[in-house]
Amino acid sequence: MTDPMNRTLSIILFCLMPIAAYCAEGKKLAITIDDLPVASATPVSVDEKREITEKILSALRDRDAQAVGFVNEDKLLEDGGIDANVALLEAWLDDGMELGNHTFGHVGMHETELSAMKAAVLKGEPISRWLSERADRPYRYFRHPFTQTGDSIEEQFAFESFLAAHGYTVAPFTIEHTDYLFSCIYDHLAAGEDPGMDRTALVAEYMQHLGDAIDAFETMSDDLFGRPIPQIWLIHANRINAATLSDSLELFKSRGYEFVTLKEALEDPAYATMAGPSKRYGPSWLLRWARSMRIRPSVFGQPDPSETVMNAFRNSCQ
Ligand SMILES: [Zn+2]
Repeated sequence: MTDPMNRTLSIILFCLMPIAAYCAEGKKLAITIDDLPVASATPVSVDEKREITEKILSALRDRDAQAVGFVNEDKLLEDGGIDANVALLEAWLDDGMELGNHTFGHVGMHETELSAMKAAVLKGEPISRWLSERADRPYRYFRHPFTQTGDSIEEQFAFESFLAAHGYTVAPFTIEHTDYLFSCIYDHLAAGEDPGMDRTALVAEYMQHLGDAIDAFETMSDDLFGRPIPQIWLIHANRINAATLSDSLELFKSRGYEFVTLKEALEDPAYATMAGPSKRYGPSWLLRWARSMRIRPSVFGQPDPSETVMNAFRNSCQ
C-alpha cells in the first residue's frame, strides 16, 4: 500500500472514531504576531531585524498562511532609523499580511489611565494605517498589550466603545505558549551569554511546550463548546519564532489544522461569548469565557515549562 493510501485510510479511520466532531468541523487556526517590527530582550541590529522578519514571513508564505502583525509604532523610532524600521512593516504588507495596532509604547491597561490608553491607541496608528491603506490592506484590529482588557467591566466597556468608534475590532487569543519566556532565554543565548542550557535543548523544550499548550487549549475548547472552535494563536515577532515558526506551523498542520484569517476565526459564534475584564493577568479567552459561562474546565492552560527552562529564565532574564 502506498503512503498516500495509508494516510487516506488513517484519516477515514480517525473520522470514524468518537471524536468525529473534529473531522466534521475541521480544526482552524488564525495566527497573530505581536510587538512588530521585532521584539528582543537584548540589543538587535536593523540587519538582524530584517533577517527575523524575512524568516517569519517566509515560514508563513511556505504554508500559505496569513497573519495579523500588531505594531508598537514607538519601535519605529529605535536604532536604525525610521525608514529602515518602516521598511520591515512594508515587507509584512507586501506578503499579504495585515497590520494591527498594539499601542505606542506597549502600555497595559492595568497600570494606565483610560485617557492615556486612548492616547496610546491614537499615537500608535498613523504610520501603520497609512501603509495599510497605501497597500490596499484593511487596518482594523487592536490587540491589548499584555492582553489586559481592564480592571472593571465599566473600564473595559468604555475602552472597547472607544476602539469601536475608531473602527477597531478587538483581537482576542486562545492559544499561547509563553513564547516571551523562551524568547528571552534565546535572545541572551544569541548575545553569547550562558543561561545554563544550550539552544538545541531550549528549542526542543519550546516545541514540546507548544504541543502541551495545543493539547490544553483544545481540551478547554471541548469543555466549553463541545467542539473545536477556531483557535487564535498569539506569538511575538522574535528570534526564537523566526527560527521555529516553520516547525510550529508543521506541528499545527500535523494535528489537522487549517490556517484561516483572523476575520474568519472571529466569525465563529464562540467569539460572541462574553469575556470579562482581565485585571492584571491576561489569560486565554478560553479561560475568560469559562469564568463568564461558569464552567470549570478540566485543564487551566498548559503545564509550566520545565524546571531547566525556568532556571535558565531566572539566570538570564530576572
Ligand atoms: Zn505585546
